[in-house]
Amino acid sequence: MAIEKDDALILDRRRLGESSLIVTLFTANRGIVRAVAKGARRARSRFGGTVEPTNLVYAVYYRKENRDLQLLAQCDVVRSFPRLRESLLRLAYAYAIINCLIGLKREEGPAGELFRLAAEALGRMERCDASLLEGALWSFLLPALDDAGFRPELGRCLHCGRDVGADADARFDARAGGIVCLGHGGGGLTLSAGARHLLERSAAGDGEDIRPALREAAEGREALRRFLVEHGLGRSPFRPLEDLVGGVEEETF
Ligand SMILES: [Zn+2]
Repeated sequence: MAIEKDDALILDRRRLGESSLIVTLFTANRGIVRAVAKGARRARSRFGGTVEPTNLVYAVYYRKENRDLQLLAQCDVVRSFPRLRESLLRLAYAYAIINCLIGLKREEGPAGELFRLAAEALGRMERCDASLLEGALWSFLLPALDDAGFRPELGRCLHCGRDVGADADARFDARAGGIVCLGHGGGGLTLSAGARHLLERSAAGDGEDIRPALREAAEGREALRRFLVEHGLGRSPFRPLEDLVGGVEEETF
């Protein structure tokens, strides 16, 4: 059994027995780590209120190879984001990030870049005006996908190779892995030029100041949701958010 010390983001906590918690951590060195925080629900627990989702912490835990649950020894808050819990909307945006992390990084291994992107985006969501929450999310989405090895094609049609042009509507073919010209017929999700612009700004690491229209943002999220499902990430990271801000209507194929 080795002792590990790492920066981590708390993603989830669940009850275990009478007084303990199972905590899901997103650690910089090993990605997702699940650990038991013994006695964490007792009034005088040494964990206090540290194991709250969205908290950035410094975690010390005992780790054993091939064991699904590790043992949390110590957890100190490095940074908390109290404003995220003041509004349902802010929290729903934060959970879009948390859900992406759960989906994108399922195997154990270094996750420093993804950790940094998530921490930065949560920091933006904590301090930004509500009109920039969507931008804060997009400052994370495509860079995070890119780090995880997923790069949807955004500029050239995947069927004919033609440059679709920045101001044109297109279709998003999740199975092919990106955009195709409108002219290739049915199938896929229609992406307006505005939604394509949003995806491209995000991919360029330039999403934070965007204030997309609701419809454009919903199209962009739906394209990514389909892309992630196509790559084996089963559930939508955007569900709680879309219950609040709306998604796109399901299209028939
Ligand atoms: Zn084409």
